Amino acid sequence: MTLKVFQCRQCGTTLFPARYFCPACGGGEWDERVVEHGTVAEATIVHHRVGVQEGSEVHLASVATDAGPIVIARLERATQAGDRVRLEIDEARRILAQRI
Ligand SMILES: [Zn+2]
Repeated sequence: MTLKVFQCRQCGTTLFPARYFCPACGGGEWDERVVEHGTVAEATIVHHRVGVQEGSEVHLASVATDAGPIVIARLERATQAGDRVRLEIDEARRILAQRI
């Protein structure tokens, strides 16, 4: 699935996740915009708790999407700030990023 962000019809502010009212202008009407790419702003590794398979780490990153909003995405491999990634949504509705 593709990742969609929400753009205010009145002022063009883009948001993710959606909110009821636009924080910039108070508008309440949104257009969905598909976002396919972004740039890693900050990368983090989350180590699983004790009891989970050893060596399994979750890589997370804040990704500045090309549409504007920053999203937290999961990655299969480590990335670093500045890396370009492709964004999508998995069946569990998590945001996944893949290094391009
Ligand atoms: Zn607005």
